[in-house]
Amino acid sequence: MTEGDYRHIYVVVEHEEEKLLQVSLEMLGEARRILDDFNKKYSSKEKVVAILLGYNIKDISNILIQHGADAVVYADNLELRYVRNTIYTKTISHIASDRDVAAKIEQEYAAQFKRPRYMFFAADSIGRHLSATVLAHLESGLASDINKLVVGDLQITHQNKTGGKPLIYEKTLEMYRPDFSGFLWTTILCLDNRNPAMQKDYHPQACSMIPGVFDIIQPDPTREGKVIEYSPKFDEQDLKVKIVDRKIIKSEIDFDSYKAIVSFGRGVKDSPEQNIKMIEELASEIDAQIGITLPLSKKPFSVSQTVDSTYLIPDRVIGTSGRKVSPKLYIAIGISGAMQHIAGMKDSEFVIAINPDENSLMKDECDVFIKGRMEDVVPLLIEEIRKQNQVVQAKVT
Ligand SMILES: Cc1cc2nc3c(=O)[nH]c(=O)nc-3n(C[C@H](O)[C@H](O)[C@H](O)COP(=O)(O)OP(=O)(O)OC[C@H]3O[C@@H](n4cnc5c(N)ncnc54)[C@H](O)[C@@H]3O)c2cc1C
Repeated sequence: MTEGDYRHIYVVVEHEEEKLLQVSLEMLGEARRILDDFNKKYSSKEKVVAILLGYNIKDISNILIQHGADAVVYADNLELRYVRNTIYTKTISHIASDRDVAAKIEQEYAAQFKRPRYMFFAADSIGRHLSATVLAHLESGLASDINKLVVGDLQITHQNKTGGKPLIYEKTLEMYRPDFSGFLWTTILCLDNRNPAMQKDYHPQACSMIPGVFDIIQPDPTREGKVIEYSPKFDEQDLKVKIVDRKIIKSEIDFDSYKAIVSFGRGVKDSPEQNIKMIEELASEIDAQIGITLPLSKKPFSVSQTVDSTYLIPDRVIGTSGRKVSPKLYIAIGISGAMQHIAGMKDSEFVIAINPDENSLMKDECDVFIKGRMEDVVPLLIEEIRKQNQVVQAKVT
């Protein structure tokens, strides 16, 4: 492997009707931080490259540069107006392995360039799908749903990868993924096979990144970057899938117009029907909308048809697989505080958590932690709120 084979971080950004998704800026922010440290540590000049696909999208490039991109490679084509996996996969894969594009980003190493060093996608429904197909195309690995990234020089001893010998893998992207409700981390590495018997490079080292986790950098309107046009070519086969109609399906559950949200998780398990009704009562007292954690939408408990169809539904899920909310008050009942859930509610102004386990991750995310079982705490809360409401009403009349 030479210095020029694998270079830069390529970030596949997403937009809806030419409006950038927040996660795109978050990925750029993290790419910028990683590469600034990387370039300093390895005295290098690698770049953050945004890949932008769509129709009439060139103007978005400036925003990407202000948020950390050194270069934006854009493909502007009517066929790319809406995401279709086949043509998006083809275009992104070509951009990621195109030496002419690499030369426009940085002339010096373009002749050797094979692939990006690292590649980032969003861990949302589009990014999860695209990352898998693009990486299959590029014949490398993928770590999904990552919430922490570190670059390191690691000593690896592995039967297949290194033939059992200890070898140093420089500039390796350690990709951390929360597992088991966020209680354990898995570190995923995408390593070249250096064992002479089965030599093969695995680049880019790629991942999808959980929305809401990484910080956006302060935009700098004076930042300069290259804007590079890429003209995709499609054949008849690529365009077999056509979009004949497109509707944005709005969620039936309105979270945005509520000042308070009461959410519950698997902690309702001891008597799900009664506990959910009790939570419904609490929500009604404070005029709150009701949210749930992802496992509840998989209907793990046997409850009445009404409770099931009203509450245990995907539209109520808060988190990376559901909705992002930012109410004034968020009450988390029987929720452990997994990263994927927190990403959906961390912008709430004031958070109360009710949980008997004071080691639950939710404790770090709340303003008030009530240690206790919901069966004991929620009735007291309802009683107290009713008393307070009566006092307020008495003062008004
Ligand atoms: C790719 C991926 C995407 C995901 N996306 C989401 C997402 O968008 N949203 C989401 O929520 N999750 C998501 N998850 C799942 C997430 O990792 C956690 O598994 C999930 O959030 C845990 O749900 P929970 O808190 O309800 O359950 P648990 O982790 O089982 O926690 C239950 C909590 O209830 C407490 N408890 C027990 N008894 C009581 C009681 N009597 N009263 C009060 N508390 C009690 C326990 O102490 C515990 O803390 C995702 C996972 C993956 C892998």
